[in-house]
Order: sequence, then structure tokens, then C-alpha cells
Amino acid sequence: MHPLVPPFLSQALTARYGAEMAEEICAGFLTRRPVTFRINTLKATAEEADAALAEAGVAVRPVPWYGDARIADGALERDLQALPLYTEGKIYLQSLSAMVPALLMPLEGSPSVLDMCAAPGGKSTQMAALSGGSISLTCCERDALRAQRLRHNLALQGAGRAVVMNTDARRLDPLFRFDAILLDAPCTGSGTLVLDGSQPPRRMEPAWVSKTVATQKALMKRALQALRPGGTLVYATCSILREENEEVVQTALDAGARLLPVDPAWESRLPTLPVSLPGCLCIRPTGLYEGFFAARLQKQ
Ligand code: SAM
Repeated sequence: MHPLVPPFLSQALTARYGAEMAEEICAGFLTRRPVTFRINTLKATAEEADAALAEAGVAVRPVPWYGDARIADGALERDLQALPLYTEGKIYLQSLSAMVPALLMPLEGSPSVLDMCAAPGGKSTQMAALSGGSISLTCCERDALRAQRLRHNLALQGAGRAVVMNTDARRLDPLFRFDAILLDAPCTGSGTLVLDGSQPPRRMEPAWVSKTVATQKALMKRALQALRPGGTLVYATCSILREENEEVVQTALDAGARLLPVDPAWESRLPTLPVSLPGCLCIRPTGLYEGFFAARLQKQ
């Protein structure tokens, strides 16, 4: 295993996926991924954005499973951030894996949606765009500075009607009820390790994982309380550890929720890892994708 991979993580990945797959996962951590982004259809059409990119000399390629997503192989983030398209909120830089959870949300029919851990707003703004601005969106964020960033991004992306609550989602008023909830939980980020030398090594110890899992389980419990019966909850993390993923989902199943299997078509679109709960989706870190997990649940 590469020496920069934290020993706890390399042991956990080897125990979970076997030595060969653990090596492949680590190879994914070592590659520098291209810049990817989403066209914000609340503010620009794909044609308009593609034309502006071509004029600016930024070569992009499409993403087969998402018409609004683009890959800019030769560009740096700062190249895109300098474009009017970016400063005017017509595109949003986002990893491809991070675009998946919002695509699993039921957004038809103007539902009331809670984005429970929302900053900086990548998935909130994506859900607003996917629904053409028709959902009634509440965004919760515990951290005050990050909540400010969230408000800024929602306004810039044309989703300014969303309500932002700067609060700990575990303490949401018990009277709230939503048709659909996205719980993009705080996690260890074990799927998004960058070991190309551009970032300092990340802390990764068992005690931290346990603390994170306790928060995730508390957020899951609160999410199920805030969901109306029959409503859908999408649980997502950028971790590839079972403790943070299937084991948290299992607590929801134990509490009576039903797993709504993710469309098997996703398995053929994305590089995946085996899951211990069939119907969940775990994306394998590669040169294009970050590691990510998503599951859909329905409250009975
Ligand atoms: N969904 C966001 C996006 O797509 O841009 C990313 C969310 S990030 C994975 C998790 C966020 O949850 C962080 O901004 C963190 O500050 C926030 N958070 C952590 N614990 C929280 C809690 N108990 N209640 C609300 N927000 C929380």
C-alpha cells in the first residue's frame, strides 16, 4: 500500500474489499482528477454555456449520464473561476460523484425538500436547478461561516428563494415535516483522499470514525422524524467505509424505514464498489470519480 495512505484506512479497505481492490482504490487517491462542473440551468442553457466555453478556449467533454455535467480535462479550477460563466453563477464546480445524490431525489410535483447538511450548497443549487426552481427548499447548516457561503451560492445560482437555517440539524424544530430529505452527512471523507502531494495528509483514526458515525446516526434519526410518512430520504457520504454507510442505513431500516433500491442502471454508468446492503450505491475512487455512497429510503 502507498506510504501516504493512513495505516488505519489501508487496513480497513483491505479488510473490506481485499488487497487487490484496496490497491486499486489507493491508485484512485493518487491520480489528479480533471476539473468537472455542472451547467446551472436556472441561469444558462447548455448551448449557451458550451458556446461561451468554446469562445473562451476551454475544451470540455460531456458526461454520458448527465446532460448538465461537463469535464474540462485540460483546465485548472482557476481557469474556470475566471470566466464570466462562473462569476455569474451559470456553472458550478462540482465533482461528478457529488452530482449523483441530487439525481436520486424525487423532485417532481413541487415537493418540500430539506437539505439537512447543506453548505456550501452544491447539492441544494443542483436540486433547485433540476426542479426548475419549483421545489420549496429548506437548507440547514450548523457552521455559521459555511451558512454564509451557502447563502451566497444560493443567491448567485438563482436559488435565492431557499430558506437557510443556521442550526444543528439534530435540533430542528420537531414540528417540521418534509416530503423529501437529502442527508449529505458530515463524514471522514475516506473516499475523497487526495494523495498527489497537493494537500496535507488527512487525519484518519478509529476514534474519529466512531465519533463521525455517532453524528451520522443521530442525523439519520432526526431526518426520519422530520420526513412525512411515504416521503423519501437520500443518505449520502463521501466515505467508502461501511460503518459510515450501510451501518448508518441499517439503523434507519431497524427503525422501520424501507430501502428503495437505487436504479441498477447506475451500476453500469459508474465505477462501483461492492455493498453489503443490495440497492445501495458505492462509487469507487478512480482517476475521474471520488469515492461516494448513496442510499434511498422511504418512511413507512
Ligand atoms: N451538501 C453539501 C454540498 O453539496 O455542497 C456538502 C455538505 S458537507 C458533506 C457536510 C456539511 O454538514 C458541512 O458543511 C458541515 O458543516 C455540516 N454539518 C455537520 N454537522 C451538522 C449538523 N449537526 N447539522 C447541520 N449541519 C451539519
